Amino acid sequence: MAAMSDRVIPLLDHRQQALRPQVPAGDDLTGQLRDGWRRPLRDLRISVTDRCNFRCTYCMPKDVFDRDHEFLPHSALLSFEEIHRLAGLFVAQGVQKLRLTGGEPLLRRNLERLVGMLADLRQPGGQTLDLTLTTNGSLLARKAQALKDAGLQRVTVSLDALDDAVFKRMNDVDFPVAEVLAGIAEAQRVGLTPIKVNMVVKRGTNDDQILPMARHFRGSGVALRFIEYMDVGATNGWRMDEVLPSSQVLARLQDEFELRALSPGATGETARRWAYADGSGEIGLISSVSQAFCSDCNRARLSTEGQLYLCLFAHQGHDLRALLRGAPGHPPCSDTDISLALRHIWRQRQDRYSELRSQAPAESGPAPRRVEMHYIGG
Ligand code: SAM
Ligand code: SF4
Ligand code: SF4
Repeated sequence: MAAMSDRVIPLLDHRQQALRPQVPAGDDLTGQLRDGWRRPLRDLRISVTDRCNFRCTYCMPKDVFDRDHEFLPHSALLSFEEIHRLAGLFVAQGVQKLRLTGGEPLLRRNLERLVGMLADLRQPGGQTLDLTLTTNGSLLARKAQALKDAGLQRVTVSLDALDDAVFKRMNDVDFPVAEVLAGIAEAQRVGLTPIKVNMVVKRGTNDDQILPMARHFRGSGVALRFIEYMDVGATNGWRMDEVLPSSQVLARLQDEFELRALSPGATGETARRWAYADGSGEIGLISSVSQAFCSDCNRARLSTEGQLYLCLFAHQGHDLRALLRGAPGHPPCSDTDISLALRHIWRQRQDRYSELRSQAPAESGPAPRRVEMHYIGG
């Protein structure tokens, strides 16, 4: 792990490095939008806050994100109106799925107002969007009903262990499992379904929780997904030997359960899905490290302050807030100009970090200036 003095607070770097997008003249706004590898843009993840009430060791380690860490001031955050405007322009360009994330999205005040605004958006053909949210579940019991009423369709809840001691060690703020389970139960009760539960598996930390988690959620209607611990960001001290490859997770599950592979649901789906042979539900494996799935990656991420990232492992964002608000010498842009800029950005996209990593695997920690996960969302 890097010594503390070597650590960088990456948000500052990213603010400095944001690229002002070009607005090309005379482009057509109607043709099919494809990136440099012919991938469409379908999925937009919107981070609504960089703050979190957890300090998961793999995401916001306490020694970096401590009392001295400067989170973004409120004025830097995109307003709900700005998010709604951008989301509408993305949807017009082919986005079908919006996921609210963070940081912890339920910490953003009046989030249900944003959900209501986004729920009213329609795809060019008139279809509704897939509108979802990823949360650590800590505030879900309190907020599920209001979110459902506002038009949220479903939630994904992160939970890394059933054992209280293991979970508390991982969230590092002493938060109990029971409250997350209560949040999941309430989300089920109000119909924020189908619910997915994401478990990041860290070898030697919570891999003994794989089977207890599977037993707990089997037959509950909740799809449990096991995520390989990723080398995102620059602060979590990632090491390859702490990654438990999905193949090994699957082998452990198959020791106890009979599983059948399901065919992939949608293009760009990140999880390989398996059904319990007795019909008691399904699990998913997200192999971001051991099996790259860049070839059909159709996701973009909008940071809390309006920078567009084309890959989870990107070093630089494209400053859409500068287009919305204007900057010295640059007046605010029209919807047409922003849409032209989005198309230009997506067409230039070449990112396929995981594929390249699997061709030349990283042995030690990540490069120091990669964007942090809590800043652009998962
Ligand atoms: N706070 C919310 C939560 O935890 O669900 C939303 C934001 S969080 C950054 C989104 C997802 O990223 C979570 O499921 C989390 O477990 C996952 N995540 C964060 N750091 C990760 C890492 N190093 N490897 C794999 N997944 C990670
Ligand atoms: Fe917070 Fe989610 Fe990151 Fe955990 S994974 S620190 S809950 S943003
Ligand atoms: Fe998409 Fe980047 Fe992940 Fe590849 S590494 S799947 S391009 S986000």
